[in-house]
Amino acid sequence: MSLTSRSALAVAALLATLTLSPSGEAIAADRLVVYSARIEALIKPMFEAYSKETGVEIQYVTDKEGALVERLKAEGANTPADLLITTDAGNLWQAAQEGVLRTIDSPALEKAVPAQLRDPGKQWFGLSIRARTLFYNTRMVKPAQLSSYEDLADPKWRGKLCLRSSKKVYNQSLVAMLISEHGEARAEQIVRGWVVNLATEPFPDDTRMLEAVAAGQCAVGIANTYYFGRLMEKKPDLPLGIFWADQGGDGVHVNVSGAGVTRYAKNPAQAQKLLEWLASPKAQNLFADANLEFPVNPAVPPDAAVKAWGTFKASPLNVAEAGRLQATAVRLMDRAGYR
Ligand code: FE
Repeated sequence: MSLTSRSALAVAALLATLTLSPSGEAIAADRLVVYSARIEALIKPMFEAYSKETGVEIQYVTDKEGALVERLKAEGANTPADLLITTDAGNLWQAAQEGVLRTIDSPALEKAVPAQLRDPGKQWFGLSIRARTLFYNTRMVKPAQLSSYEDLADPKWRGKLCLRSSKKVYNQSLVAMLISEHGEARAEQIVRGWVVNLATEPFPDDTRMLEAVAAGQCAVGIANTYYFGRLMEKKPDLPLGIFWADQGGDGVHVNVSGAGVTRYAKNPAQAQKLLEWLASPKAQNLFADANLEFPVNPAVPPDAAVKAWGTFKASPLNVAEAGRLQATAVRLMDRAGYR
């Protein structure tokens, strides 16, 4: 059963169904409730597979990550939610800061998810990798001219750079990682250089930004790979190339979609089992491939279309840095005039 969301009524109905047994214990042994910032189309197939395999029924509510965290805070101990799924380590980190997640000790998760892709405090775990790298117009740029995020601040790219808005958490996380790698002063120089090099105002989303690169409005830009994948599936002839950034340095900025068990989960043991299953080879392709992302579990190969982009060195920094330095990154971008 699915609950497509945004309605308080849906949650009220959900609460009403979570009744107490005569002994006073919550009846929830064979049912889980998931709050997800990943859209229904991406989560439904894997929940159906899990229900089929285990008999555990999964109900879910989808909404924006901010709204889901606010809902968890407002519901407190009365929340029906056992698991929170969201995109971006910055958002997962915020959820942990807000106190809506709980610590999970799981050897299975620690084995399946590389250490840099999960919370050192064990409250959330990456389930798919999203890489944010460079994309270029193949008629205007040779790959040999490209190198790193830092290089896009060089005057040679004056009037040739396109970016998405700094309001998007993806760019806040990218700049947070630059701060972690280069220090705040150098990161600010880089971002100031980007702003000077912009061909036009920042775009509201990655797809529009990539279309501007393809149209020659700019020569190069930064986006998440799955937007490139979606666009090229629809329009394979676009003159767009992917370039793995910083291969001679710190490596590509990677981020995650991930999940954590809620602080007031009615069924934390079952929620942990679902989380472990999502990180296992059985489910990793269901989780990652639907959005052309990379599995976090190194034992699982990516989808063929994703594999075709080649392999790359990823930044070894823990993705939690994106959360820890998010506020610093937002202030830095504001000072640098990156809108
Ligand atoms: Fe996205």
